[in-house]
Amino acid sequence: MLDVLVIGSGYGGAAIAARLAPHASVLVVERGRWWRPGQFPHGVAAMCRTYRTRRNPTGLWGVRLGRGTGVGYASAVGGSSAVNYGITSRPDDHVFAGWPVSAAALAPYFARAREVLRPTPSPRAVALGDRAFLDRVEPGRRVDLENTIDWDRCDDCGRCVPGCNRGAKRALDQTYLALALAAGAELRVETEVRGLVPLRDGGHAVELRAAGGGPEWVRARQVVLAAGTLGTLDLVHRSHLAVGPGFGQRLSLNGDGLAFLYDTPHALSSHAGAPISTSVRIPFTDEDGRVRTLMVMSGRVPAAASRFAAAALAALAGTIGDDPGRSAHAPHPLRRRLRDLAIVDSGGALSRSFMYKLDAQDRGRGTARFTGAGVVIDWPDYADDPILRFAGERLRAWAAAAGGTVVPDVARLPGMRSFSVHPLGGCRMACSIDDGVVDDVGRVFHPGGGVHAGLRIADGSIVPEALGVPPSWTITALAERIADDLIRELATSDRPQRSASATSTSRT
Ligand SMILES: Cc1cc2nc3c(=O)[nH]c(=O)nc-3n(C[C@H](O)[C@H](O)[C@H](O)COP(=O)(O)OP(=O)(O)OC[C@H]3O[C@@H](n4cnc5c(N)ncnc54)[C@H](O)[C@@H]3O)c2cc1C
Ligand code: SF4
Repeated sequence: MLDVLVIGSGYGGAAIAARLAPHASVLVVERGRWWRPGQFPHGVAAMCRTYRTRRNPTGLWGVRLGRGTGVGYASAVGGSSAVNYGITSRPDDHVFAGWPVSAAALAPYFARAREVLRPTPSPRAVALGDRAFLDRVEPGRRVDLENTIDWDRCDDCGRCVPGCNRGAKRALDQTYLALALAAGAELRVETEVRGLVPLRDGGHAVELRAAGGGPEWVRARQVVLAAGTLGTLDLVHRSHLAVGPGFGQRLSLNGDGLAFLYDTPHALSSHAGAPISTSVRIPFTDEDGRVRTLMVMSGRVPAAASRFAAAALAALAGTIGDDPGRSAHAPHPLRRRLRDLAIVDSGGALSRSFMYKLDAQDRGRGTARFTGAGVVIDWPDYADDPILRFAGERLRAWAAAAGGTVVPDVARLPGMRSFSVHPLGGCRMACSIDDGVVDDVGRVFHPGGGVHAGLRIADGSIVPEALGVPPSWTITALAERIADDLIRELATSDRPQRSASATSTSRT
């Protein structure tokens, strides 16, 4: 029997595998492909071809549409690290106030994760206009970002999403997964876990299905669900695991949002391909007196979408745009906007626009709904969350102070939805089953008392609430802590020493 089977190779799964592999036999099962530099899709047609469907189960990315929300996800070796910006940000201390593990207890695990992820600031960020702009509109609140990018190899092409073809982004296959494989972990790619069944003598039988293949069963003493928020919710549901009433409740979209301050009088950098490099953090006090974080990042229009974005923004600015500062600032020359339609460069309106990319501590009112195509998140009035309204007010204040046309979150247009790539929760960490689904080390509460033997969850689904910053570092730190506890448990359990590889078995 295998010691540890890890489902999913994103931040949680990769960290668990790297830490456990020196101590135990570890198999990581990942349904996505291993995308190497040079293989990531380039252009709209290629993006469409890599959309994940039943017929294309190893597709790179997908979308789930719920009531009021849409969630984007990636399916690949390294999870969403394959397609993200590599922004590595720690939440403010107040975020951890109601968690079953304190900020102080998590600090060494953040440090440990940082040593492996190795984020660094962009040496070229200082040349971009957005830092000076943020200092002007939110004095003293700028927080420059760090990314898991090798800046010497990065040419600022702006294609981090949907994947770096230069090998400059240090995705997890270059960090945690490389450590796991070097320590002897096995990685099965293009193989989906369909469900798991607890065994009477401990451990679980896990059903795997390779793309285009038939079912296969593997037995493991410990199973770690790290399939990402949507993937783990699907697996717990599909496996009919007995869990607490909090399952699928209190999901957060981490305040994800997008709006624009279009065609300001200032030289900005929305058009520049460079990865997102700076932000401001603004405290917001909610109606209960609780301080929450609003993080506004200076976003960048992906290079592939810049011409489309220029045209769409010009049109939206004319129809739904709002210009609170018009009287105080010179009117915006039409020729800048027209120029963008021919060539997107530093002379056009897009280069003077601020892409208002939000992460925020929303109230976590999303609920999971299980459909034939998998879980979706319903939160019809997400766009009315108080912190998102506050974000809209700040943007209007910026426009009044610094000029530009506010193009508000298009999610508010009829028929549109809010969109997030940071879904969190649904199996939230808590002190008891009354308040969540797992304990502080990822063990799953059993409604009959105690916890499920040999089962942990270690991914975005256990994060108890919105973080207000991009979540990858926090998920990794939580997984580091869970790995420590798992190593202790394996060391004290009655088991043979490290076995060689996975054992196929029938379900009976
Ligand atoms: C476009 C984009 C940009 C982002 N930018 C940033 C950023 O810059 N910084 C940041 O901190 N965060 C960013 N995020 C969010 C961040 O990447 C995620 O929060 C994080 O990856 C979640 O980690 P995870 O361990 O929960 O799971 P994931 O990274 O989602 O990995 C889960 C893996 O499990 C696999 N899986 C699912 N179900 C199964 C199954 N049944 N069998 C086998 N395998 C399965 C999936 O294929 C996937 O590879 C971004 C996300 C996206 C999509
Ligand atoms: S900007 Fe381009 S080269 Fe740099 S990390 Fe992103 S995709 Fe890679």
